[in-house]
Amino acid sequence: MTRLTIENVSKLYPGGVAALKDFSLEIEEGELVAIVGPSGCGKSTLLRIIAGLEEETSGKVRMGERFLTGLPPKERNIAVVFQSYTLMPHLTAAENMAFGMRLRGTFRNQREEKIRAIAKTLGIEGLLNRYPAEISGGERQRVALGRAILREPDAFLFDEPLSSLDAQMRLQLRVEIQKLHQRLGTPMLFVTHDQNEALALGDRVVVLNQGKIQQIAKPDELYLKPANTFVASFIGAPGMNLFPGRLESNGNVHRFVSSSVTFPLTPSQASTLRTYSEVVAGIRPEHLNLSHPPDAELRGTVTAIEKQFDQTCLYLENENVVFTAKAARNISCHLGDVLQWSVALDNTAFFDAITGELIL
Ligand code: ADP
Repeated sequence: MTRLTIENVSKLYPGGVAALKDFSLEIEEGELVAIVGPSGCGKSTLLRIIAGLEEETSGKVRMGERFLTGLPPKERNIAVVFQSYTLMPHLTAAENMAFGMRLRGTFRNQREEKIRAIAKTLGIEGLLNRYPAEISGGERQRVALGRAILREPDAFLFDEPLSSLDAQMRLQLRVEIQKLHQRLGTPMLFVTHDQNEALALGDRVVVLNQGKIQQIAKPDELYLKPANTFVASFIGAPGMNLFPGRLESNGNVHRFVSSSVTFPLTPSQASTLRTYSEVVAGIRPEHLNLSHPPDAELRGTVTAIEKQFDQTCLYLENENVVFTAKAARNISCHLGDVLQWSVALDNTAFFDAITGELIL
């Protein structure tokens, strides 16, 4: 087994859409990398290029030392599990699963044994003689997964394989994929627009926007240290609040000042921010605490209240600045109430207002 390497891949579609811009990534043996980004950011284009279904404009794809670029899909030995199941309707589940193996010339008795073993792992051993029309969406996706495993590929690519399933089935299959990942040790690339899925599955997560990598990081780091304002607002539900403002110093007293929120800075924060004239303060909704004057640093009128099982998410507005905060589940408040907040300074991030890049 070896690593999957994507080197400086760009894709310009006829008509001028730059779907991928200088994309580079190495997926190690046994690693699952999740790619997350909004619709149209280039996720499917990347998978199609790796699978050989689309040609890159420049760059290379390698499996170990073996260059895949230029090879037809069937010579790449890479399995793709798509959002739609792509099962053959006139073949049973078992025959569908055997399909990739049959092409590779596996003996019949060996084939049956392997199919039964994989079907058992995936919990579909009772359905092997049914046709795709006779099983549920989640079961069809398990069959598709089984077929991919039985091909014994060098790498797996998942193209939003769970997005057409209901919430419960999605969670179940997510767990199956995790187990599979631990057992097989094959490089896996999992594409999704669902950040929860990316965070749950990915050893590392790539955030992609408009064809460009925004950040590659472990899930925790993505949340705590977003590389730029795009990642900050994209990751998290809701995302990080962003307040454009500036540093103001008066002797030894340093403050972040913006139209809606003003709070003191530590000397070390002030020292780092001093060279920037305009910065953006990033504050996660859970890092705003309900407060009262004189400690309050931010006022907001409640415009929407979203009750969740373990907390309440509040949507607030201050002079056209919209922000969100998380409060206790049993908080008593109403639309139109004005609430006051203080900022958990240790958890505040600062970004360069011009480039959007994280400063600290
Ligand atoms: P995602 O999978 O993240 O939704 P895609 O990879 O499908 O994104 O698309 C990336 C960009 O490339 C989009 O702007 C899309 O409209 C464009 N695109 C995708 N396929 C083609 C194509 N065959 N011809 C021209 N543009 C395309």
